[in-house]
Order: sequence, then C-alpha cells, then structure tokens
Amino acid sequence: MKVAHEITAQAPSAQALDVGKIRADFPILRQKVHGKPLVYLDNGATSQKPQMVIDSLNRYYSEGNSNIHRGVHFLSERATEAYETARQKIRRFINAGSDQELIFVRGTTEAINLVAQSYGRTFLKKGDEIIVSAMEHHSNIVPWQILCEQIGARLRVIPINHDGEIVLEEYRRLLTDKTKFVSVTHVSNALGTIAPVKEVVRFAHERCVPVLLDGAQAIPHLKVDVQELGCDFYAFSGHKLFGPTGVGILYGRAGLLDAMPPYQGGGDMISLVTFEKTHYNVLPYKFEAGTPHIAGGIGLGAAIDYLVGLDWERVAAHEHDLLAYATSALSRIDGLRIIGTAREKVGVISFVFDHIHAHDVGTILDQEGVAVRAGHHCAMPVMQRFGVPATTRASFALYNTRDEIDVLVSGIHRALKVFK
Ligand code: PLP
Repeated sequence: MKVAHEITAQAPSAQALDVGKIRADFPILRQKVHGKPLVYLDNGATSQKPQMVIDSLNRYYSEGNSNIHRGVHFLSERATEAYETARQKIRRFINAGSDQELIFVRGTTEAINLVAQSYGRTFLKKGDEIIVSAMEHHSNIVPWQILCEQIGARLRVIPINHDGEIVLEEYRRLLTDKTKFVSVTHVSNALGTIAPVKEVVRFAHERCVPVLLDGAQAIPHLKVDVQELGCDFYAFSGHKLFGPTGVGILYGRAGLLDAMPPYQGGGDMISLVTFEKTHYNVLPYKFEAGTPHIAGGIGLGAAIDYLVGLDWERVAAHEHDLLAYATSALSRIDGLRIIGTAREKVGVISFVFDHIHAHDVGTILDQEGVAVRAGHHCAMPVMQRFGVPATTRASFALYNTRDEIDVLVSGIHRALKVFK
C-alpha cells in the first residue's frame, strides 16, 4: 500500500534540506543489499559516516600516526594538536565551559561507568538513593546497580506512562533527602521519547543533587547546550554522531571532576610517580589513562565539522517530517502497534504485531534491503513496561528520505503476507 499522498506530514519545500546532497556525502548509502538499494534505518544503533570523517581517519593513519602528549618530535606534536583541536570543537559543539570539562572515553557506557565508580564510590554511601527512569538503556542501569551492590545504596526508578513519557510528579515524589544522584536519559533509544531533562535537573538541583544525562540518542538529533541544560554530567558516543566507534565524551562540571578520584591508573593521568606516592595530572588528563583512541578523537572532530556545516533548522525540520510521515504511514498498517507515542519524540519508531515476532519482521525487511533493529534494544525494562518481548525499531537520520519510508512500509506489508 502506497500512502505517500495521503499523509498530513509537511510537504517538501524550497526551504527543505538538500537530502540528495547529504546522501552523496555518505558512501555506504550507495550500496545494494540482497540486490536492493540499502535503506539504512538503524541509526539508533550506529550512524553512518560522511566521507569527511573517513578521510580524516585515513589521513591520520597514512600521514599523521603518532602517540600524543609525550613526544617531542614533529608527528607527535602534530597528532597532539589535532587531538586537542578535536576537544575544542566538541567543547564548542556542546557549549561546555572549558576543555578541561571534556573527557575522551570509549563511549556513553564508559562515561557512565566512570561517574558511577569515581563519583559514586567517593560521595555516596550505604542507604543513599540513586534515581534513574524506567526508559533507560542498560548502560544507565547496570553501572548504578553495580555501585549499589558495592556500597549498599538503592536504585529508585521514575515510572513512565503509557505513551512512554516520564511521570514528573512521581519523580518529585522519589526525590527525598536520601537521593544523592540522578541519572536519566535525554532521549530514549527504544521509544524515541525526549525526556523533560530541564525539569529533571531543576528538581534535583533544588535538593543539591547532581544529575547525569545520557545523551547517546539526543546528540545526533537535538541541539545540546550543557550550560543551558544545567546538568552536571553529559555522556555521548561518537559513533551515533556520524563519528568513529570506540570514542565518546564525558562532560563534567570542572568542580565535580576536580573533586573526583581517577577512574583508571596508568600513563598520561599522572604528573609524578614514585613508589611512595603518585600525583595525578590536571583535568581532563586525570581521567584519560593510557593511549587513547587518537584517530577516533580526531574523527569525531571531523564529524562535528561536518555537522556544524549544515543548516540545523532544516535538519530538524527534515527529521520532524520523516517522523511524522513514518508515524502516519505505519499507523495505517493493520495490526501494527507503535510502542512509544510521546508528544516530544525524535525519529525513532518502535512497533510490534501481536502475531509476528519482531525478528521475523526484521528478517523480511532485510531481504528488501531495509536495515532495522529487532529485539529489546538493550532496554529490557522498557519491554517489560509495555508487556512485549521485543520490538522492531526504525530509527532515522538526516540522510533518510520519505521514499525510504515507503520501502519500509511495503516491506512490512510483505512480512504480513508471509506470516499471515
Ligand atoms: N545510552 C543510550 C540511550 C543508548 O542508546 C546507547 C546505545 O545504544 C548507550 C547508552 C550506549 O552507548 P555505547 O554502546 O556507544 O556506549
């Protein structure tokens, strides 16, 4: 069933994003899968990389490879400068107060573990409570559970309503004198919900409780300004932001990071080592033990160069259009139920059929060249909340098109025929 002409989503206009031009920047999108043009709708898992990022990695390894911060030779100094320049780009991109507040990590997962272990083990104690929401990715649940086991703290969970929205009144009720940390996702990977993070931060700060925001799914879609959000920590992964895998960022307020002990020990995070005592390096290096993912950091800087070169109002309008178009088209499919119907959403649509398993839908779509995710999306509590074992998830990026959504829809109809 072709639904393109019937939907109410905004029609393309002269002001629209030039998606054809953007697609040309992503070489992977030109390929065929099972003889069909690739329709990549698994951006929530990882996004594709523009040529600029691929070139920066190639250039680094073919012309610039060297270890950083330690060498006095030309290559080392140049690599150090490129790596530190990337840090500055990231600082401007999220409007952090200083470069010292940006720690290169492996990704969101490592960033949250760092805070749980360094801040949590130092400043929390038995009987304290940590608040997360019911729509967290496992990486914003398990590190806190590990901490709770280590120190005897307790995890409290803000419920979500049937649309997949945080229930703020319940959050306010959970915030008590026992609350010592709040860690909430900015955008849910399984539902697409944009959380009311400003309120989350404000209510916690009224009680002087620090807040970490998991920005893994927010950063590719929303303009993130950490000072405006007012959060104490913000975590994200480079690979979801059109950058390389294996690199990400933990933003932390300098005052808090200063007070926290190192997360790992090793080279680069020290200023003086003797067998009697070690003096730690200044921020941010205190938290960057060992040789980092140098190419990754530089590649993430290139991804940011790419993004700042785009007109973000147009990108946002395009992504909004994709979400509206897809929601409308999928809602018309008999038996399809969308999980996650929040008023504020990014381009993520999770859906289920009562009689077809999500993996079967995903497998048929793959035959059509359509890449989606099927499973629990590392958010098992979300599946439990909605009483489903798994969902099929289509997640959009700025290079996706309405035509691709039409291919998704006809692929779903094919799955329905196969499994009728
Ligand atoms: N948080 C959210 C909301 C995510 O969607 C993901 C990954 O999908 C993560 C955290 C973990 O990110 P990474 O695996 O890059 O560390």
